[in-house]
Amino acid sequence: MKAIQINGKTIAEALRARVARDVALLQTECNVTPGLAVVLVGEDPASSVYVKMKARQAHAVGFRSQQFLLPSNVYEADLLGLIDELNADDSIDGLLVQLPLPGHIDLWRVLEAINPAKDVDGFHPYNVGRLAAGRPALVPCTPLGIVHLIKTVVSDLNGQDVVVIGRSNIVGKPLALLLGDAGCTVTGAQLQTRNLPDLCRKSDIVVAAAGCAGLVRGDWLKPGAIVIDVGINRALDSTGTAKIVGDVAFAEASKRASYITPVPGGVGPMTVAYLLANTVNAAVSRRGLSLAMDREARHVGPSCLREQSLEVDLQRAT
Ligand code: NAD
Repeated sequence: MKAIQINGKTIAEALRARVARDVALLQTECNVTPGLAVVLVGEDPASSVYVKMKARQAHAVGFRSQQFLLPSNVYEADLLGLIDELNADDSIDGLLVQLPLPGHIDLWRVLEAINPAKDVDGFHPYNVGRLAAGRPALVPCTPLGIVHLIKTVVSDLNGQDVVVIGRSNIVGKPLALLLGDAGCTVTGAQLQTRNLPDLCRKSDIVVAAAGCAGLVRGDWLKPGAIVIDVGINRALDSTGTAKIVGDVAFAEASKRASYITPVPGGVGPMTVAYLLANTVNAAVSRRGLSLAMDREARHVGPSCLREQSLEVDLQRAT
């Protein structure tokens, strides 16, 4: 068997096009232009790249996009002061602080300072709690993107056995909640988990979000499994050139899986696309507007999930 690759780049492109249509509708029908503010503390190169990418894509779909660059030694009180200002600014619908933060800043004090209605990363405990309780919430972007990718290849998630490797607040925990809500039987694995290979072999869907290069081997997989690789790891190839690899041994896994996401070009593009989708939905729900896209929403953001089956893009793994 040769797995089919799930092309996150083109699926994300379709999602961004849908967001752009929603923005145009909001502008013409409601005179609303969604605003996204991204705060970056320090000059971490990877974070700077992410912030620029978010700003570029936000601009491309028609948002008002603002970036706030603070020095790495900024006082926590000054950062909190900026968050207060952005919370109060009615032209800002989505507000996020790029992580990680410098060690002298209290992460939770910052996350809890963000107005939950503008919390487009979905990290505020208010949104975390609402997601856990099955209430509409702003949900973290990467798990939304992963569910979207899975739904492009599985028409019915009911009864699927899934192992989610990694239980971070950003990926593993919210993803387990979303998949459980969708009818899957979810096993959450972590560093302390015993016999991870056997757990994977029993699973219809394996999601690897551990940050451990090549962790999931080909012989860990049930033939025909769906494999979603979230990991982003730096590694050297045989010529000593640096490259980005995932948490799955891709070549081996491609021989056993039915569908697999590549790294790069799988989950990554979906994360930024869902930041845009979350911002539109924040703009809609914050203003008490009711667009068709939002009416049946289970989570804030799933208008995109509902239509995704039309947006499949697959190609044979090479
Ligand atoms: P994290 O470090 O916060 O958590 C890692 C989790 O994996 C922990 O629960 C840990 O117990 C578990 N783990 C680590 N090694 C393991 C092992 N050998 N076996 C089983 N479990 C193991 O990580 P995170 O923030 O969730 O990120 C995970 C990976 O996903 C990283 O590579 C990160 O760069 C990547 N990531 C990608 C995106 C994207 O958009 N593609 C978004 C977020 C994170």
